[in-house]
Amino acid sequence: MSELLIIKALSVTAEDKELLHEVTLTVGEGETHVLMGHNGAGKSTLGCTIMGSPEYAVTGGKIIFDGEDITAESADKRAKRGIFLSFQNPIEIPGITLSEFLRNALEQLTGKRTKLWEHKKKLKAAMELLDMDSSYADRDLNVGFSGGEKKKAEILQLLMLRPKLAILDETDSGLDVDAIKTVSKGIEEYRKSCGGTLLIITHNSGLLEGLHIDRTHILSGGKIAKEGGGELAFDVLANGFEKFTSEV
Ligand code: ADP
Ligand code: MG
Repeated sequence: MSELLIIKALSVTAEDKELLHEVTLTVGEGETHVLMGHNGAGKSTLGCTIMGSPEYAVTGGKIIFDGEDITAESADKRAKRGIFLSFQNPIEIPGITLSEFLRNALEQLTGKRTKLWEHKKKLKAAMELLDMDSSYADRDLNVGFSGGEKKKAEILQLLMLRPKLAILDETDSGLDVDAIKTVSKGIEEYRKSCGGTLLIITHNSGLLEGLHIDRTHILSGGKIAKEGGGELAFDVLANGFEKFTSEV
């Protein structure tokens, strides 16, 4: 299996504080990886740095995506390459509907405008899969959406935009049991039908139980403290982090 994302000895600072120290990890194409760690361990920092957020300065190491060094590239270019980051708190955009937003985003990514009927057909199918009421397509993006609907709208983006790599940063936070199952189903569909590669930041057993996990990485104090297979994620969920993070 080819390597889609290679992070080599990546060190990152913000406001003169080192937040990540020589983090190395590799994600193969089509794999699902889980990133765990205490609050403040640096998980979101890593996600945002992979996406190219200007908030974070890379002071050492490299990010290789799809065989190319993207360490110095803008977030916009990275998005065009197929990197997607879903936020913990999706923003509301008044004045643009969910459907228009997705059609514009697709046009920006591909350079082509999808025919409206074609777009609506694809959107309807993806929304049905996520148990989203079809009326949400014509509502302003995230405006007045419940927490669960906002998160579903993020997963809907995955199914419609079909990025090569999806980084999901606590996409499950604030969801009820049924919504987590639906989100899990959407992620699985993205993996299967789009051949998607995932880096999932979560501590939610409900989300992980429905997924095949290839690898788990535990961050502690900005460093990789432990790595293992899918079983490591469930070990952490059952027993906590202490035994893995105490030596770092
Ligand atoms: P996690 O997602 O694992 O909870 P974060 O990556 O959000 O952790 O944060 C890691 C550490 O970096 C925290 O101590 C946080 O306060 C700090 N941090 C995050 N972003 C910034 C920033 N833009 N400027 C300064 N410090 C930051
Ligand atoms: Mg975070």
